[in-house]
Amino acid sequence: MNSPIDATWRAFHQRSLDDPDGFWAEQARLVDWERDFDQICDASRPPFARWFVGGRINLCHNAVDRHAARRPDDAALIWVSTEVGQERVYSFAALKDEVEAMAAMLREGGVGVGDRVLIYMPMIPEAAFAMLACARIGAVHSVVFGGFASQALADRIDDAEPVMIVSADAGSRGGKVVPYKPLLDEAIRIASHQPSRVLMVDRGLSAFQPVQGRDLDYAALRARLLGTRVDCEWLPSDAISYTLYTSGTTGKPKGVQRDVGGYAVALAASMKHIYEGRAGETFFSTSDIGWVVGHSYIVYGPLIAGMATLMHEGTPVLPDAGIWWRLVERFKVTVMFSAPTAARVLKKHDIEHLKRHDLSSLRTLFLAGEPLDEPTARWIADALGKPIIDNYWQTETGWPILTLARGVAPAEAKFGSPGVPMYGYRIELLDERTGEVLTEPNQKGLLTIAGPLPPGCMQTVWRDDERFVRTYWSGVPGRQVYSTFDWALRDEDGYYFILGRSDDVINVAGHRLGSREIEECIAGHPAVAEVAVVGVADALKGQVATAFAVLKDPAGAATPEAALRLEGEILRRVDQLLGAVARPSRVRFVTLLPKTRSGKLLRRAIQAVCEHRDPGDLITLDDPSALQQIRDLVG
Ligand code: ATP
Ligand code: MG
Repeated sequence: MNSPIDATWRAFHQRSLDDPDGFWAEQARLVDWERDFDQICDASRPPFARWFVGGRINLCHNAVDRHAARRPDDAALIWVSTEVGQERVYSFAALKDEVEAMAAMLREGGVGVGDRVLIYMPMIPEAAFAMLACARIGAVHSVVFGGFASQALADRIDDAEPVMIVSADAGSRGGKVVPYKPLLDEAIRIASHQPSRVLMVDRGLSAFQPVQGRDLDYAALRARLLGTRVDCEWLPSDAISYTLYTSGTTGKPKGVQRDVGGYAVALAASMKHIYEGRAGETFFSTSDIGWVVGHSYIVYGPLIAGMATLMHEGTPVLPDAGIWWRLVERFKVTVMFSAPTAARVLKKHDIEHLKRHDLSSLRTLFLAGEPLDEPTARWIADALGKPIIDNYWQTETGWPILTLARGVAPAEAKFGSPGVPMYGYRIELLDERTGEVLTEPNQKGLLTIAGPLPPGCMQTVWRDDERFVRTYWSGVPGRQVYSTFDWALRDEDGYYFILGRSDDVINVAGHRLGSREIEECIAGHPAVAEVAVVGVADALKGQVATAFAVLKDPAGAATPEAALRLEGEILRRVDQLLGAVARPSRVRFVTLLPKTRSGKLLRRAIQAVCEHRDPGDLITLDDPSALQQIRDLVG
């Protein structure tokens, strides 16, 4: 068979499915254990799985201490803020000191093993110290994206019931100071649960009044505690490392709970096999610590692999669209991780910003979080001259489900496809109505994972096993499989294509269309920068597709005539490439699309507005004016 997928990879992948115990036992050697495990996986109570049973381990030891012992002076954490114009570089030894000081502060604040610490922080080194300090003493962190409003924060405080909250006076976004303390104080006021201590990092950006008896000053404590030794707390492999919410794209966010041992092994393995990151090199993820990418690939993954992690506070376009690439050049970044939404932002700027830097250190750019449309992928691949690898996964899984494993074999990327199932995942495409497994190429179905989920994936929904089973494992008739809620197809070469979320499937007169297919087609029009397609209820056809597009140059639709002409061109394009059934009823032009704070299109909100319904929970909506534009258009 002439397959673009290398035989080395196929053998590697097959072994992970045929001999999971042997495969994962081998991966487990990538990390240090204080006590070795007795059993690889206990799946006796499906759909729950416990990995590396009997083993005792610590994430902070694996991320910090073991490297500090061998290579104390190597860079571990590089922080650059283009918001406040500051930089700091911490070696592994310095990082260990800072984490121990922070751990001592948590202990003094009464935090013990299993206690929760809520972290509400901007992108500053102290946020990473706080996460690692929790890991060190066996506390469970719950990071809430900095800048979430009071109600969202209050809900999360009540869910996590933290003993302590770590926060800062303010963040900064696009050069504007965003005070956090007033949001935090208000959240604590409306929450039922009351933390006993709030540890405040004062950046001097926004003056605040400490609450007597509750608020602690980080700088004062650090001055006293730096140099204090706090040993790592060895934890059972299945102890809880953290809880984290999903992005809330489809509704109420779910509190994902993750273990320690399985996560450590999964991340170490992914750094080696997928990202090809090596100790001593620099990894740059442009995400935020508030999201799963920030957890796995700003903080834990690179450090576990002994790499320096570059943490950037700022946007991709300030002071100009060359900033990330200057950082790649300066810090000799070898692996970079970003999101399609960022690539689309860059695409609106001069390509020379990317081209004029020496990017010779960079091997691969990975993009994840949203469908990577072909025009964007081609643009950035051309700008950088590097492989662009799409990465498909979820907060729930913690590491990639579908991608190409650069560290195992250099498979060829196909535009529009994140690639193939990663080792350990038993992927099946199912007919969601019958539960039948789809085996033919190019059949569209629900992307599912047969249990047990591999190491690193969620253990359960925080404090709600029942919701875990009901939400993820009960969607398909007759089978208990994990549903990703995404719709996909597999081509004849075994590459997968994500067609959209299963709730975003548009049903036009009985034809089921993925929102993604139509979006991809429209995004291929040279004038279009970005587009969202939703299904809108229609008395005749059941649903019709409606499109909202952002133009590269808004002048393109400045007059009604120009807009109409462009709309006609786009509709003809859909007719030609997909067929008339996929043709949207309208293509309307906006300057901004409604997105979550993590940069995902909020199609459900657009759909609700188009159908004149209540858009529901908009707590994760980034810029409300985007939804208002759509409201104004549909009347
Ligand atoms: P919620 O589950 O709360 O509705 P969410 O699904 O957006 O929010 P995340 O866990 O942040 O929360 O995102 C995972 C989802 O993002 C995937 O299920 C998929 O829909 C989408 N996604 C992630 N990566 C890709 C990718 N490379 N291509 C296409 N879609 C992707
Ligand atoms: Mg989801």
